[in-house]
Amino acid sequence: MPPSPTPASERHIIVTGGSRGLGAAMIEGLLADGYRVSTCSRSRSANIEALESHPEFGSRFFWKRCEVGEGSQVDEFVNAAVEWAGEDGLWGLVNNAGVAQTGILASFPNRETEKILKVNLFGAIQAARAASEHMLRGGKGGRIINISSIIGSRGYNGMSAYSASKAGMDGLSRALARELGRRKITVNSVAPGYVLTEMSAVLTPVQLNQIVNRTPLGMLAEDSDITNLVRYLLSDAARMITGQTILVDGGISC
Ligand code: NAP
Repeated sequence: MPPSPTPASERHIIVTGGSRGLGAAMIEGLLADGYRVSTCSRSRSANIEALESHPEFGSRFFWKRCEVGEGSQVDEFVNAAVEWAGEDGLWGLVNNAGVAQTGILASFPNRETEKILKVNLFGAIQAARAASEHMLRGGKGGRIINISSIIGSRGYNGMSAYSASKAGMDGLSRALARELGRRKITVNSVAPGYVLTEMSAVLTPVQLNQIVNRTPLGMLAEDSDITNLVRYLLSDAARMITGQTILVDGGISC
């Protein structure tokens, strides 16, 4: 018999990049489930301010400015979040912070490639390193979820650096799942298709129409489609799932 599930109210989750978009939606869902949630971003957005003063969620929410990709800032953020959570320690990390930039590689500036890899891939590795140290010390298992993208496995015209960064995150999930499995820490990637956020605003209406037409389910994903899978992977029910990249794309990759 598996042990009885630990209530969300006794668990602390870190979500990187929570100032807007998918990260902000995830945080609201996790707070509604009863978790303690910490996040970081470069800017303190209206979403962050609203959660800090929220009558129900405010006491279970922590934000700190941090530039993911800068290793020492990531260590400081994770340590501050774990200290804030006290005896709840750290149960889960969602590597969500990400940047995207389009352009054909032949004329794509190297500094843009470096920025994308620094935030999306090095940042995810830095946060996983810092978080797993706390999870291993806590000895209660845990969850690491990397928000990658179907572009990591399928590619997309004009997104070579982004695609490489997301394929790297999927590789991280597979290798780290092997490394941490015996300590009951699962590591998975969630790979969304196209979700309407500031990041996908770079797509033109024509491109979005093409995507919808090529999607078997005939629609784009909503924030909640991604958040629901993240919530499941964080739960005790998902204890046997590790090392996977799970696509949430309406079937466009099938
Ligand atoms: P978004 O709306 O652009 O939000 C990105 C978030 O990441 C913001 O909160 C941003 O906050 C934060 N961030 C960016 N760089 C950061 C850094 N260096 N340090 C700390 N925080 C940083 O993007 P989104 O659409 O919600 O995407 C979230 C994740 O889903 C990304 O990893 C993205 O690649 C992935 N994804 C998105 C889609 C989509 O269609 N939208 C599809 C597949 C995968 P600040 O700017 O305040 O720092």
